[in-house]
Amino acid sequence: MKETTKILHSIPVDKLTGAISTPIYQTSTYVQEAPGVHKGYDYARSNNPTRKVLEDLIATLENGKKGYAFASGLAAIDAVVKLLKSGDEIVAVDDIYGGAFRLFTHIYQKFGITVKYVDATDAANVADAVTGKTKLIWLESPTNPTLKISDIREISKIAKANKALLCVDNTFASPASQKPIDLGADIVIHSATKYLAGHSDLIAGLVVTNTDELGEKIKFIQNASGGILAPFDSWLVIRGIETLPIRVKQHSENAQKIAEFLLTLDIVNNVYYPGLPRHKNHHIAKEQQKYFGGVVTFDLKIDDKEFATHIVSSTKYFKLAESLGGVKSLICLPCEMTHKSIPSEIRYQSGVTDSLIRLSVGLEDADDLISDLKTAIHSLSKKLSFTS
Ligand SMILES: *Cc1c(COP(=O)(O)O)cnc(C)c1O
Repeated sequence: MKETTKILHSIPVDKLTGAISTPIYQTSTYVQEAPGVHKGYDYARSNNPTRKVLEDLIATLENGKKGYAFASGLAAIDAVVKLLKSGDEIVAVDDIYGGAFRLFTHIYQKFGITVKYVDATDAANVADAVTGKTKLIWLESPTNPTLKISDIREISKIAKANKALLCVDNTFASPASQKPIDLGADIVIHSATKYLAGHSDLIAGLVVTNTDELGEKIKFIQNASGGILAPFDSWLVIRGIETLPIRVKQHSENAQKIAEFLLTLDIVNNVYYPGLPRHKNHHIAKEQQKYFGGVVTFDLKIDDKEFATHIVSSTKYFKLAESLGGVKSLICLPCEMTHKSIPSEIRYQSGVTDSLIRLSVGLEDADDLISDLKTAIHSLSKKLSFTS
């Protein structure tokens, strides 16, 4: 069975009524026949049938053993970090999602968990950083916003040799494009807010494990800490996943066209997109991803925040907003928005310049999106020729 068929048909038909759409079990508790005698459901923090369908679906989709749904991507990340104890160390990709950086640094460091950040685009840097205390290696590939690619298979070997867990934040690629567990990862997490839900209409997170044993540990943390996903939001994510492969394919085709268009512009300095042969680890992306994804980032030859602000404020179809992965295109200026809290020297080191613009390419027609960008960029060029 091919993947698109597998996704649609691993969502079960409701046994009770035959409903083809998963029922939303909006309940807090379940009536028991006798104390402790029930149908496998006792309290809705511990278990909910709607959430369970989503959890089984994401485990299937990631080729993992167990899946768990959380109230946000960060709640999912938080559950994974809670596998550790004081004195343990994390080795993480340096271009990590800002929220994960904040969680590691400002919450877990004070409980005695330390973090080392490395440029994971070269696996040797990870091998050099790992010590006897390293219990978790944390990767994102592609990263946000400069779309750096790390070799998941190579790094999984380093994790295994050092008895550390490898967790991959698979938000940007999505399982339609990349399956980290097949590449050797122990855990996959998602901000399901992005491509999985796909319609910019909710916040959700998922964890998938490669073994039942690790799954039981996450399940314990999910129930003990309580950051679960609500039934209605679980239903929306299931509904989003039904069209995931077809969306990711189209997001990626549109993004490739836009990246190639941006390369032709004099005003543009770097274009970051794993689908471009000039991308540093294009060969690895080609190996481990089916599609190159819907995010394209670029900066300007004249690295000026005002110029970039003019562009992000002038587009019509690309709406100015944080987040990504929805059907409608978004544009954002990381230095003022998603990456504002990062000190500028550190921000610059990871390539996030003042003129860096991130696009979340949606499902509009690529020609319309290109002409939208063309108009915005031309209006800047006009403004520049008037002022010079
Ligand atoms: C958005 C995002 C998160 C955080 O997810 P939330 O659902 O916003 O909590 C984590 N990792 C990546 C790569 C993200 O893009």
